[in-house]
Amino acid sequence: MDVDVLIVGLGPAGATVLSKLAQIAGSEISILAIDHRQELGFPVQCGEFMPAPEEMATLMPDVPNAQAFFTFNKQFISTYTHSISFFSPERKVIRTPFQGYTLHRGNWNAHLIEVGKEYGAEVWTSACAVDMTNNMVTVVRENGRSIQITPQIIVGADGVSSRIAKWTGLANKRPDKHFVIVKQHLMTEIENEYDSTDVKMFFGEKYAPGAYAWIIPKSRNTANVGAGVRLPMLKNDMNVSKALSNLINIHPIASQILKNAHIGQTIAGIVPVGLPFQETVELKTKTLLVGDAACQVVSSVGGGIPPSMVAGSIAASSIIRFFREKVPLSDYQSKWQVQMLKMFKSAYKLRQFFDIISGGGDRRVQWYMNRLSSSDINSVVHCIVPWRVFLIAPFMRFLNLIVK
Ligand SMILES: Cc1cc2nc3c(=O)[nH]c(=O)nc-3n(C[C@H](O)[C@H](O)[C@H](O)COP(=O)(O)OP(=O)(O)OC[C@H]3O[C@@H](n4cnc5c(N)ncnc54)[C@H](O)[C@@H]3O)c2cc1C
Repeated sequence: MDVDVLIVGLGPAGATVLSKLAQIAGSEISILAIDHRQELGFPVQCGEFMPAPEEMATLMPDVPNAQAFFTFNKQFISTYTHSISFFSPERKVIRTPFQGYTLHRGNWNAHLIEVGKEYGAEVWTSACAVDMTNNMVTVVRENGRSIQITPQIIVGADGVSSRIAKWTGLANKRPDKHFVIVKQHLMTEIENEYDSTDVKMFFGEKYAPGAYAWIIPKSRNTANVGAGVRLPMLKNDMNVSKALSNLINIHPIASQILKNAHIGQTIAGIVPVGLPFQETVELKTKTLLVGDAACQVVSSVGGGIPPSMVAGSIAASSIIRFFREKVPLSDYQSKWQVQMLKMFKSAYKLRQFFDIISGGGDRRVQWYMNRLSSSDINSVVHCIVPWRVFLIAPFMRFLNLIVK
C-alpha cells in the first residue's frame, strides 16, 4: 500500500503531526496514522501537568507566538494550579509561584486524532509496526493480517522505546541513568487539608531515588500521585512500587494528605531524561523522529507534552514544505533545535547537578535544599540553574566530600 506519509504512534507527538498536517494539506497529501492501542489516548500514561501559556512563553521563548500556541481549549483542562512545592527528605517545604494546569490529556489526544480524520487522514487503531526494511513498514492489524506500507515519509512518534528509531539507526544505546521508571495512581476521594492549586514534588531515597515523587491535583479531591526511580540509584530491595507505596503510606506529609483516599487506575512507564538524539532525521528512508521517540523531554522534570507539541507542529510544516517546495527534511531538525535545544541543554545541566547532589543520599539533598530559597526553586522550574548553584558549582565536588 502506498501513502505519502505514515505516522507511527498517536500519543501527543504523533497526534500533533497528524492534526496539523491534515489541516494544512487536506487531500493534497495522503496520510495514514497507526497506533497499536485500541482506544486512542487511553489509558493516560502521564501526570498530565502543563505549564500555563505565560510560563511556556518564558520556558520556550523561541517558539513563535508561544502563548497562543500553548493555549488549550478549556474543555481539556481539568484544574488550574498556581504554585509548585518542593519537599526535602526532612520535610523542609519550598514553595514557588508557577501557573499551570492539569489536562484531560486522553480527551485532548483523542480530539487531535479526530481533527486529523475530519480532514481526510486514515487512522488505524490496534495496528502495530513490526518491521521496517528500507522504507517499507510492515504493520500487523487487529485481525492478525499483515500489511506492507510504502510511504514517502515516515514519522516515528512511537514513544520512548521507539522501534522506528532503532530500525533507522537514529537511536543510540543509552545508559540506564538516562531513564526514569515511573508508576502512578489516580487517587480519588482525597478529603484532608489538600491544596488543589499546588503541585507537590517530593525528594528522598525512600520515595524517589534519583528522581522525584509527585502529587499533581486533578480536582478538589482527585490527583495523579506518582513516583520515579532511576535504576543506578536503587539500593537494597527498593523499586518503583515500593517508592510509591512509601510516599502514600509513610511520607510524613503526603501520607496525611492521602490518608483516606482511594486508588483508582494505576499506570507505569519510562521517561527519557537524557538529551534529545543528535540526529532526528534519516534521509535515506525519509524518516523523522518526534517526541519521546527522539528523547525530546525536559530532563530536569520529565516534561514531554510541550516538546511533543512543538516538535510535532514543526514536523508537520517541514513535511508540507518538502512536498510543496522540495525543502529537505533536515529543515525539521534545524527548526526544533532553534526553538528548543537551548532549553533541553539547560534542563540537562540541572539534571546533572541533581545527580551529583542526590548521589550523596538524603543528607546531601537536605543540606543543599536547606540553602535554597523560593526564588532558586523558581529558577529550577523555569529550567534555569539558580545563581547560588552556579556559584558553588566549581566547589561542588569538594563540598560533597564534606557533606556525605
Ligand atoms: C507516569 C508518567 C507521567 C508523566 N507526567 C508528565 C507530565 O505531567 N507532564 C508532561 O509534560 N509529561 C509527562 N510525562 C511525559 C509524557 O507523557 C511523554 O513525554 C509524552 O507522552 C510523549 O508523547 P509521545 O507522543 O512522544 O509518546 P507516547 O505518549 O508514548 O505515545 C507513543 C504512542 O506510540 C504507540 N506505539 C508505540 N510503538 C508502536 C508501534 N510499534 N506501532 C504502533 N504504535 C506504536 C503507543 O501505543 C503510543 O500511543 C509523563 C510520563 C509518564 C510515563
